[in-house]
Amino acid sequence: MVRKRKARRGKKGNGKKNNVRLITKPKETISEIIKEPAFPQVIAIVSGKGGVGKTTTTANIGSVVSNKFEKKVLVIDGNVTTSNLGLQLGFLYPPVTLHDVLDGTITAKQSTYVHKSGLHVIPASLSVERDARYNEMSRAIDMLRVKYDLIIIDGAAGVGSEVKAAMRAADAILVITVPEIPTITASVKIIETAKKMKVPIAGIIVNRVKRKKHEISLSNIERVCHSPILAVIPEDNKVSESMNAKEPVVIFSPNSPASLAYQRLSSLIMGMKHRTGFFQSFLEKVYRIKHCKSKK
Ligand code: ADP
Ligand code: MG
Repeated sequence: MVRKRKARRGKKGNGKKNNVRLITKPKETISEIIKEPAFPQVIAIVSGKGGVGKTTTTANIGSVVSNKFEKKVLVIDGNVTTSNLGLQLGFLYPPVTLHDVLDGTITAKQSTYVHKSGLHVIPASLSVERDARYNEMSRAIDMLRVKYDLIIIDGAAGVGSEVKAAMRAADAILVITVPEIPTITASVKIIETAKKMKVPIAGIIVNRVKRKKHEISLSNIERVCHSPILAVIPEDNKVSESMNAKEPVVIFSPNSPASLAYQRLSSLIMGMKHRTGFFQSFLEKVYRIKHCKSKK
């Protein structure tokens, strides 16, 4: 029995292709990683490609920090040309939006909506005809700093001026990727852009991980991106279901695999110790075993 266990451990630690070897040790917090500023109060969530989970991640981190940690959190739809944060949270036709704030016609407070989870939200306009003065984003966000513990900007994809405006307004960025070559290549571009702009990179979040053999391994992602992976969010059907319910998955299905990963990530962002109850840590173990099996 002991020999069997040792053999299993040996197999796990021999650095094979899909073995997860993270640069980031779990005890590290974002503030330890980026050093300056001591606490990233404004975080922009960006990606090289679209459709990889920026909005989902924004809504879920926001909900955990607001609901579970009872902090004041604001999420802003900084993806002003193809906005959808408001849609994901059920604000279908917001009468006033971030576009009005950037135009200077209303204050940010006037365009802030409260989701039933307690999360504060500034949606963007869905109209294709409206231009956004996104260069005003830093100014608008700076005025909100005194009111919130955490502000998350749901950024756009790519390295265009819209993304740069969100990055400029933030203390640090989180880069979302999926474990596929085109998206990782695009992530490298955004990381290089952030470095040129001297915007601190808090780390990478690898989303929609199925732990299949064809996926790019986590250690390779860290190697090409030269940035630590902070979280691995598994592929989870509950995410799409939660979308229909207009609720973040952490509220819709708090014990689903993605929800547990978002809770862990949120603790890391806030520099808080991650606490799981007996049931949740049992579930995490079950999901891990399931994932290992699905590698084959
Ligand atoms: P982005 O904001 O980067 O364009 P979204 O957050 O809108 O991406 O997500 C794109 C799609 O991917 C959505 O339909 C969402 O439900 C789905 N999705 C995101 N993360 C996951 C996940 N971990 N598991 C399953 N589906 C996911
Ligand atoms: Mg989006």
